[in-house]
Amino acid sequence: MRKKIVAGNWKMNTTVPEGVELAKAVVAKSSEVPAGVELVVAAPFTHLCPLAGVLEGTKVGLSAENCADKEKGAYTGEVSAAMLVSAGCKYTILGHSERRQYYGETDAKLVDKTRLALANGLDVILCVGENLEERDAGRHFDVCGEQIKNVLYNFSAEELKHIVVAYEPVWAIGTGKTASAEQAEEIHAFIRKTIAEKFGAEAAEETSILYGGSCKPSNAAELFAQKDIDGGLIGGAALNADDFIAIGKSF
Ligand code: PEP
Repeated sequence: MRKKIVAGNWKMNTTVPEGVELAKAVVAKSSEVPAGVELVVAAPFTHLCPLAGVLEGTKVGLSAENCADKEKGAYTGEVSAAMLVSAGCKYTILGHSERRQYYGETDAKLVDKTRLALANGLDVILCVGENLEERDAGRHFDVCGEQIKNVLYNFSAEELKHIVVAYEPVWAIGTGKTASAEQAEEIHAFIRKTIAEKFGAEAAEETSILYGGSCKPSNAAELFAQKDIDGGLIGGAALNADDFIAIGKSF
């Protein structure tokens, strides 16, 4: 049985005290979420140590939003996978479209980052997704398929067990436009098929694939009811504990 996951991506929001309060509010309500659903919060680097204290012993896991593509050394401003583990992270998000778009993150860099994250014991939430122009040109399957092949195909079936895929159509992120449940399901099924072509049907069946892009309490249930959607990567709605928990209850 693959894992059901609802992960909040806080992006560059909240000060440290605000983030601690938000995490406390999530923990306080987390018992409302079914036992089989894993909750994760992905927070800025500055927040990770204090949040690790708040989340310790709770059912809410801690994630970073990014990690370095180098192991250690003279890379000013970077944060390594080993540092994230030592700060209490279980996961890191990699390849978010905002990092691809604004910080030049390429699939090749993502291979290095994923390799280091896994080698240090982090699980990876790997984001893929097409932009509006690509969707309008009918290239969404090709774009997502290439991103999956360029990154995931470099890893073993054993390593795949520590990778969660998040399908995030860029045109739906922070725009209020959600992919319809049918649009999301057809890409999720395609991603699972692409994973199966390399790793086999059983490994693909075990891989959790999350949907992200304006997911909120009002649309989560319909999305999560789809056969190949195993939860969500939640941006804006994760900044409100009630909304985040309501999404966690939507299975
Ligand atoms: C995200 O950026 O990962 C995301 C899904 O954002 P939003 O929910 O705000 O669209």
